[in-house]
Amino acid sequence: MILVLVDHDRGEIDPLSLRALTAARKLSQEIHAVVIGSDGAGVLNIVGEYGAQILHVASHAAITDYTPMASGRALSELVEKLKPAAVLAAGSPRGNEQLAHLAAFMDIPMAAECSEITLGSPHHVLRARWAGNLIESAHVHSELLIATVLSFSTEPQSINGPAATLAQFQPELEPADTVVKILSRSSGESKGGVTLIDAKVIVSGGRGVGGAEGFANLEELATLLGGTVGCSRVVTSSGWRPHAEQVGQTGTKVAPDLYIAAGISGAMQHIAGMKNSKTIVVINTDPEAPILRYADYAIIGDLHQVIPALTSAIRQAKE
Ligand SMILES: Cc1cc2nc3c(=O)[nH]c(=O)nc-3n(C[C@H](O)[C@H](O)[C@H](O)COP(=O)(O)OP(=O)(O)OC[C@H]3O[C@@H](n4cnc5c(N)ncnc54)[C@H](O)[C@@H]3O)c2cc1C
Repeated sequence: MILVLVDHDRGEIDPLSLRALTAARKLSQEIHAVVIGSDGAGVLNIVGEYGAQILHVASHAAITDYTPMASGRALSELVEKLKPAAVLAAGSPRGNEQLAHLAAFMDIPMAAECSEITLGSPHHVLRARWAGNLIESAHVHSELLIATVLSFSTEPQSINGPAATLAQFQPELEPADTVVKILSRSSGESKGGVTLIDAKVIVSGGRGVGGAEGFANLEELATLLGGTVGCSRVVTSSGWRPHAEQVGQTGTKVAPDLYIAAGISGAMQHIAGMKNSKTIVVINTDPEAPILRYADYAIIGDLHQVIPALTSAIRQAKE
């Protein structure tokens, strides 16, 4: 049996968890899902559709929001009870963090960001290292495999299964398990209400934008296309845009239908976050910019002229 941690944000499922459920089905027909926090119980139908037969819900008065160490503790108790062959989660920052706590509690290794998993003795995984520039082939020497599934390595596939059976349990937490918790939140949504991870279109800007005010043009284009704005790390480090909009190794990994990279050179740490985009359009003054290797379409020119021209052409076409 495979146990899959299904992550959620105040009851709203993380779509990457559906990829983890799909990956789990390649390993076993018997799938249990687990959500931490009672407001996750609403995902009963959807985890069933993706092949989970049982949904375990870990509820505790101290778990009112994301509490990663408490998740690790709850998972360790469930593992002791259910004895799964593997515990999987999405290879998101939260999935990696919660399973790392589980591995620490159980004192066994954890394999993060796996694109392929073969159960055995030892287990074998392929996993992304160095921002996806190196694929590591590794053996994991522990009876239980704890692993996260590389974002976008598996397409989510529903099998239209029936709703999972609900199994409530209350983990026994220690006070130290809830010291790391959310104190406040700031919105990661664009003006149009689209988050980076959900956006079908991302208009991303780099140092070439030249300053915070230069992003007004990118915002206008993104809104017109029903998308949102992203950026490189230079932009967040310069304080032009918030970190929530950073794409890359130390930002968000995205895979929209359309990624427009304007004034971004294509450092490997940026590419790691956007190379799975379905169509990549590059706007850059430098015909030798490394990002051109990943471009489906490229416009060699000044983004301050190209973006307003694109915006006006799209607006005219829409009218
Ligand atoms: C551990 C680590 C983690 C990192 N994580 C990330 C990460 O998550 N995300 C990330 O993005 N970076 C990350 N970086 C930083 C990364 O290495 C690069 O420094 C950064 O991505 C470069 O940003 P940029 O492309 O905006 O700037 P630059 O490399 O300076 O490129 C600017 C580009 O704009 C073009 N340009 C200039 N003016 C114009 C114009 N008017 N019109 C059109 N084009 C123009 C230039 O030709 C150039 O190609 C990380 C680095 C480290 C060491």
